[in-house]
This record gives sequence, C-alpha cells and structure tokens, in this order.
Amino acid sequence: MSNLSVAKFGGTSVANYSAMQACARIVIADPNTRVVVLSASAGVTNLLVALAKGCEVDERTKLLNEVRQIQENILNELKDASVVRHKVEAILAHIESLSEAASLATSLALTDELICQGEMMSTQIFVEVLRELNTQATWLDVRNIVATNSHFGKAAPNDELTQQNSDNHLKPLIARGELIITQGFIGRDPQGKTTTLGRGGSDYSAALLAEVLNAKDVLIWTDVAGIYTTDPRIATNAQRIDTMSFAEAAEMATFGAKVLHPSTLLPAVRSNIPVYVGSSKAPQEGGTWVTRDPQPRPTFRAIALRRDQTLLTLTSLNMLHAQGFLANVFTILAKHKISVDTITTSEISIALTLDKTGSASSGAELLSPELLDELSQVASVKVDGDLSLVALVGNDLHTKAGVAKHIFNTLEHYNVRMISYGASTNNVCMLVENEQADNVVRTLHKSLFE
Ligand code: ASP
Ligand code: MG
Repeated sequence: MSNLSVAKFGGTSVANYSAMQACARIVIADPNTRVVVLSASAGVTNLLVALAKGCEVDERTKLLNEVRQIQENILNELKDASVVRHKVEAILAHIESLSEAASLATSLALTDELICQGEMMSTQIFVEVLRELNTQATWLDVRNIVATNSHFGKAAPNDELTQQNSDNHLKPLIARGELIITQGFIGRDPQGKTTTLGRGGSDYSAALLAEVLNAKDVLIWTDVAGIYTTDPRIATNAQRIDTMSFAEAAEMATFGAKVLHPSTLLPAVRSNIPVYVGSSKAPQEGGTWVTRDPQPRPTFRAIALRRDQTLLTLTSLNMLHAQGFLANVFTILAKHKISVDTITTSEISIALTLDKTGSASSGAELLSPELLDELSQVASVKVDGDLSLVALVGNDLHTKAGVAKHIFNTLEHYNVRMISYGASTNNVCMLVENEQADNVVRTLHKSLFE
C-alpha cells in the first residue's frame, strides 16, 4: 500500500467558486491527496441529461444557457479566467452541437458523450482555482485510464485494462510528484467512445482509481460531515458516527438513509480500502470512516427510516401444513416484478412489505389489479398503505440478549404493525404508521443513543 489518498468532491462541493475554493484548500492541506476526482457542478448533469433527450430549439437554448450560467458564475470570480474560459467555451460549443444532434436523433452513445461534459468543465475550472492558490495541478482525461465495456449509461469497468492504463499513464505522473485533477463518472469503451458509469458514478470512479493505485484511502467530500446515528432533521441529537463497517453502511443506505452506498464503492470494499466521508464546507467538523472491520462494533449503530411502504397480508387456511404456498406467492410477485423487503409468516398468513422504489416497474402502479387478482386466487389479500419502515442497524442484533425486549419496552405506546427480527445480524425492522414514524425514530434514538 502507498500513502496516497484519492479525494472525490461531489456536485455541491464544486457548485460555485467559493465551494471550489474550499475544496482546493482541503487538497492543498493534505500532501497525501495526489489524485482528485470531481463531479460536475451541481445541476449541470441534470441539464445535460435533459439536452440529451433531444429538445426543440427554444427549450434547448434555455437549457444551454442554464449550463453556461452555472459555469460563467464561477469563471467570473476567477482572477484571471482567460485561459480556462477558452477551454470552457470550447466544451460549451461541443455541448451545443451534441444537443443539436440529439434533437435530430438520440442515441445512448451520444448521450454519454454529452453528459460527460459537466465533469470536463468542472475539472478544467478547478485546476485554475488551485493555480490561484499557488498550486500547480495536472488536468487528466480520465477516459485514458478508466476502460469500460460499451454499456452506455451504465458501463462496467474493465479492471485489467484500467490497471494497465493506470500503471502506464497515471502512476508515472504521480511518481513525478504531480497533483492530478480528473473526472468522476466517465470512462472509454474499446472503440474509443465515451461511456458513463451510471448517475452518481463519481464515487465509483474514485474507488476504482484508489484500487488501481493501491491507495491508502478514498476521501469522499460532500455536503454532510459524515454519517449520523439518524437523520439530524428528525432527531436533533443525532450524533456523527466516527467509524462504521461497509456492511452497516450498506444496511443504512438500503433502508433509506441518504448515505454513501457501498455498492458504488465496490472496488474499495473488495480491496479493503477505508473510505472517509466528510463535509468540504466544514472539514474541521470531522467525518465518518467506513472500513471493513471497525472497532468497537456496538450493538446499536444507527436508525434509518423509509417512508411510504405497503404492507401486503395474505391469509389462507390452505397454508396449514401445505407445501409450496410461499413459492406460489413469490412466483406471482416475481412475475409482476415486485421486490419484497421484509417478510414475516405465521401458520396461516404471511405479511410482506413492499417499497415503490424497490419494484422494477418504473412508474407503474405497485399493486396492479392483475397482480391482486392473481394473489386472490391463492389467498385472501389485505393491503395497507401509509406505513414506514424503521430499521435499527447494528451488530449481532439477533444474538444479543434483551434487544427485542428493549425495543418493545421503548415502543410500548406505538402501534408496531410488523417486526422483522432474526434474519439479519445487522438490522431489526419495524413497520409503523407514517404519521408516527418520526416519533418512533425520536423515541428509539433517545433510548438507544442519547
Ligand atoms: N455528475 C454525475 C451525476 O450527477 C456523477 C456524480 O455526480 O457522481 O450523476
Ligand atoms: Mg453527484
């Protein structure tokens, strides 16, 4: 392992001039940070995605102006923008002609070529922001390093080729002591076309580069000072977690916490590279380290909340001593592309929770009449909505004595509709009414963390 850190700054961290300056100061203050991965300035990728869908000239002009304005606002604050302004203008002209092309015919390859331009601009500007602070940096086109397949919009990296590219073209620069500024989110396919790794893919890029560089850590700089014991907007006493495991972070993200999702950090997880989450606006506040095996590993780590769940209860007397009932039910659900989150069963009934975002049916009604009709043929069906899933995340929750008792005592005045306990070592899930959810989180948080 080297002593090199890869730092990634998200869209809000590079949204404007002063935000970029804060990032530059963080980079300058840490001599180990030699590779910096940037997202596009906040809002830019969304605008580019809209342009890539192909629009009429009026709409196109409006969107292009919005992109231009975001970058102009930063350029205008630079002391000497002359050199970088040319570069950004050239990129804007490229965006304009790609948008025109998209209005005639869209394609996935064209879309990726278009939506990667936000990162191209933010990185060019950032080099200049650093230069103003007397720090020389090298702009690098990350497409020369990150090799992918041709799955435009969600390309998969080619790990071997990326490693080779890094060894041949990136490592020598770092060895020479250069500070590298490069783009997240994008790569290049075997035909030389631009690809993207999927929305929010910059974390992935940073982890990939950290892996091929054998870096000591990945620093994810964002707009929150780490991961908290629960959403501080719900429980004002929520505390920052200093260290947590990849598994715990994954549980939290799955159950609705807006924290970094380890699947986007896959290379860091598989190569066991610690990941730090901190706020670029307030680095002094500290942050959270996510690692494979943090110590201590408390029983209770955090509480996540996911609203708007649906509870499906299926009852059938035929289930008694029957075989294949669950298989039937799950076959029907799978056919309708419904993904089940939690499940409990009794001798004659099963209760399932479903999440809108978890179903593959984009925009379609979660429980279609056809689905309900098919289920009704095997059981009586009851549907309850307006529920929230409160997930208590921690360690060895299923084996620790008294966990369930503690939860039930704490929540004795609430109507807990369902509890899923025992399947996972890392979570206990409770289903409660939407309007009670915040109070349940606050009450649990108070009793477990305050
Ligand atoms: N700019 C890209 C997006 O908005 C990638 C990223 O921010 O991670 O999805
Ligand atoms: Mg982003």
